[in-house]
Amino acid sequence: MDCVFCQIVAGKIPSTTLYQDEEVLAFWDINPMAPTHILIIPKKHIPSLANITDDESPLIGRMAKVANRLAKEAGVSESGYRLVVSSGEDGGQVVPHLHMHLLGGRKLSARPC
Ligand code: 5GP
Ligand code: ZN
Repeated sequence: MDCVFCQIVAGKIPSTTLYQDEEVLAFWDINPMAPTHILIIPKKHIPSLANITDDESPLIGRMAKVANRLAKEAGVSESGYRLVVSSGEDGGQVVPHLHMHLLGGRKLSARPC
């Protein structure tokens, strides 16, 4: 498996675990775009949001719940933050393993991109 996020899940690539349960893992982004930049991923390899099945779709809610919790822990819940899920080439997705970006700690553009 050459998926970078699967290797993080397996502990083969180091990362700082901020949260984990049986289905979800969260860690700092290696190339932060904001003072708070956390990635929330399913432990299971799902290539993108476009590939999620009906059975898997509750994972998105779980990931958002984890993001809200981590936003509070990072101290950006009151100041505000953004959750981003990029899907596919035009969506700007680089790592083909479903992930949610939690961005905060600075004023983000009012536009989504
Ligand atoms: P995408 O552009 O696919 O939505 O986001 C992928 C994100 O994964 C990027 O923000 C990138 O910095 C991050 N990333 C890529 N490789 C690694 C890694 O090995 N470790 C960590 N912590 N983040 C990574
Ligand atoms: Zn993967």
